[in-house]
This record gives sequence, structure tokens and C-alpha cells, in this order.
Amino acid sequence: MLSSYSPINGALLGQVPVATLADYQQAVTRAQETFNRWRMVPAPQRGQIVREIGEELRRRKSELGALVTLEAGKIKAEAEGEVQEMIDIVDFAVGLSRQLYGLSMHSERPGHRIYEQWHPLGVIGVITAFNFPVAVWAWNAILAAVCGDCVIWKPAPQTPLCAQAVQEICDQVMARYGFPHVFQTLQGGAEIGERMSDDPRLPLISATGSTRMGKLVAQRVGARLGRTLLELGGNNGLIVLPDADLDLTLRAVVFGAAGTAGQRCTTLRRLFLHRSIAPAFTARLIAAYGQLRIGDPREASTLIGPLISADAVANMQRGLAAIQEQGGQIIYGGEALEGCYVRPCLVKAPPSLPVMREEIFAPVLYLVEFDELDQAIAWHNDVPQGLSSAIFTRDLLAAETFLSARGSDCGIANVNIGTSGAEIGGAFGGEKETGGGRESGSDSWKAYMRRQTVTVNWSKQLPLAQGIQFDL
Ligand code: NAD
Repeated sequence: MLSSYSPINGALLGQVPVATLADYQQAVTRAQETFNRWRMVPAPQRGQIVREIGEELRRRKSELGALVTLEAGKIKAEAEGEVQEMIDIVDFAVGLSRQLYGLSMHSERPGHRIYEQWHPLGVIGVITAFNFPVAVWAWNAILAAVCGDCVIWKPAPQTPLCAQAVQEICDQVMARYGFPHVFQTLQGGAEIGERMSDDPRLPLISATGSTRMGKLVAQRVGARLGRTLLELGGNNGLIVLPDADLDLTLRAVVFGAAGTAGQRCTTLRRLFLHRSIAPAFTARLIAAYGQLRIGDPREASTLIGPLISADAVANMQRGLAAIQEQGGQIIYGGEALEGCYVRPCLVKAPPSLPVMREEIFAPVLYLVEFDELDQAIAWHNDVPQGLSSAIFTRDLLAAETFLSARGSDCGIANVNIGTSGAEIGGAFGGEKETGGGRESGSDSWKAYMRRQTVTVNWSKQLPLAQGIQFDL
């Protein structure tokens, strides 16, 4: 049995059975059988069926949000925001179901037509992290479903009840249409993720979580030449120039660094302050951190809930010890409070601090001073991860430099908006050790389909490409 404990107070919330090998085999077999039928349902009809999951989510938004709060410790507004993200992606997917476009090309040969079409890929494995216990599944599964795929979900072991609730919502809708196994869930730990990674019946594994996990999954899936879509750790930076609107900047920094208790992949972790504004801005930041209300995320006034577990608290404390050993200076917070609660932390750091290259999955924000934009960009890019980035400035030239090919090397680059809180319409994901995957909006759907290039000869000749003559 997998036990779910609330990070709010350690209470046992419930238990779910761990999927056995037999459960695994049954799920894959059912998914394959369902796929054979589901792939032949016209995509717009798949969209109409999936739309009803969105309707159900609208009805259940506050209930499901409350469960996210209980199990993952997110404050109510963020937990309901996560459910809203699921609803948004369903809306997007319904429209997408009529827009799975392929290109057509002009053939070099007379009487020939060339075009690309997109077909469903198969049974997709989705592995998710604890910190987005419902939305990340939706980004993957809802798009995959309108693309004609079936989905097997292995949720994080810390948040099994959120997954079960989502599965039950899907079951209700999908059973009505005779497709009960388009979406399935297998509860458990890494061993199920490993089994999925090794299984050639799953052509794509979409995995969200730590870089450590992503490297393991990539190797196993790569060994069978399967496809991966990886959404891994971030180490996100924000550059503040002297002409920035500092009120706006302050709000973005505090939400980005301390919000969600620092447990977003897009959490702001490195703040590059121009030397001329650094002392005053740091003072304002310390004052703002002093206002953060830490506590039970079910209370409306709370802004910072708990970390996910006692292990996460211990990991943060280890990180803070390393920071101090290496020459970083804690200038605010960092204390472990009762249970899984911590005080968000501000650290004054030299640009070369080794530990700053790692993702400590907790609210620890490094403050680094710089003199020149080019220097700030170079430091910003000098980490293994490449997820989200931002610059605050009113200088068009500086903003465009940051967005140019010699600017931010991240998958997401923002101007006068913080690093966290992306909309679903754009493609989401990052470069380097963040894994290179793209999910959610734009043309991310292509990851869940296979491309077929079709050439039709409607002439009565057989001309060969490149003018090759091969006459008998
Ligand atoms: P984690 O890597 O510990 O676990 C993530 C998932 O992978 C879990 O379901 C886990 O059971 C599974 N897993 C672990 N080892 C595995 C293996 N060897 N094979 C297959 N599956 C395995 O991550 P976490 O602590 O749950 O989440 C936090 C991390 O996730 C952070 O690094 C964060 O940045 C990252 N994250 C990234 C994104 C993104 O979109 N880039 C989004 C959310 C979280």
C-alpha cells in the first residue's frame, strides 16, 4: 500500500494499492486494445469527449483544489490555479482536435503531390512529479488523447490521492463513451517508472521531475530507441537593470522565489541585481519577506505553505550549510520551523558560488550583484539547467539583447514578468539539463503523434526524384 500523508500536519490522508506486475501488464494490454479503436475515432469527436472532462473539472474545481492543498500543501489560490490549468488545457485541446495540421509541399515531379499527415503514436507513459500533482498530467494526457493516444500515468508517490481523483473523473466520462481505458493510472514508485521506460510497447515516455531521474529515464528509453519528452529541474534567473519598475520587480521576485514554497520548476532561484540598485532593493526584499505569512495552506491569509516532506526540509538545511561553507551569506530566513514549514531564505552570493549551480528544491534565493548586462547574461547562462528566465527593464535595447541569440539560453524568456506562472498557450519546457522537452501549447502536440510523409503520383509516368533515369 502507498500511504499519503499531508505535509500540512503529517496526518494520514489515505492509502492506495501499489500496482503489481500483473496490474502493469493488464493496463498496457487494455491500453493497446483501446488504442486500436480510439485512433480511428475522428479527432474532432475525440475532442468532444475530452471536452466533458473539462466540464467535470469545472464542476469539481474547488474539491480537487482542496485535495491538492491537502496532499501537496499548496495554498488554496495556487491549488485551484492548478485545476484551472487543467481546464484551460482541455479547452485548448478541444480546439486543437480540429487543427492537427500537416504541411503540403510542391513536388518537383509533374503529377505528384506531397504532404505530411500526423497519426496517433500509441500508448504513452506519463511520469509526473509531486509539485504539480494534477496539471502536468493534463498537459500531457489531454493533448495525447485528442491526438488519438492512450495514456498510462505513473504519478508521484507523494500525491497518489490527487491522481486517483483525476482518474475517477476520467473514468466517469470515458465509460459513457465506451472508452474506459484511454486514461489509466498505476500507483507506485520509481520501479513502475523504470518498467515503463524499458517497455517497447510505450513509444513515448513523458517524464517530469528531477534531472537525476530524467537522465535515468533517458538512458533506459534510449537503449530501446524509444522517444522521451523530459521536463526536468530548473535553476531560474532574473536580471534587474537600474531603470526597471522596482515595485513591479519586487512583486514578481517575491512570488517567483517564495511562492509555492519555492517548489516550482520555474521558481526564481538566482536574482542578478545591478550594483547601483542592489542595496536599496535588497532592503525592500528583506522587508517584503518579513511580511510573508507562513502556515496552514487551507487558511485564506497564508501565502507560504509547507514543503512536501521532512526530507525536503532536511535537504534545504543541507543546502544552506553548503552555501555558508562555500562563502554565501544568509541575510534572511532559512530556518526550519515546526513540521514541514520553513522560512523562505535570502542569500548574498558571489557569482562563482558552486552550490548555486544546483537546484535546491526549496525557497532559497541567491542575490548576485553585477555591473554590466553582458556579465549578468553570462553568469545567468552559466548553470547546467535552462528552464525559465526574466529581465526587468524599460530599456528596449537591453530587453532585446536578453531575448537575442546571445541572450538567455532558456526555453522560457520573459520581460517584466517573473520566471514562474506560465500560461498554457505557449510551449513549456527548457534546454540543457532541463531536458529539452516541450509540453502544453503551441505545436507541442506533435510529440504525441507520428509524422508521415505521403507522395501521391496521379500521373501516368514514373519520374524519379533528382531526375534519375532507370529505364529498362
Ligand atoms: P523526482 O525526480 O524525485 O520524481 C519524479 C517522478 O519520477 C516520480 O513519479 C518518481 O516516482 C519518478 N521516478 C523517480 N526515479 C525514477 C526512475 N529511475 N525511473 C522512472 N521514474 C522515476 O522529482 P520530484 O521530487 O517529484 O519533483 C521535483 C523535481 O521535478 C524538481 O527537480 C523540479 O524542478 C522538477 N519539475 C520539473 C518540471 C518541468 O516542467 N520542467 C515541472 C515540475 C517539476
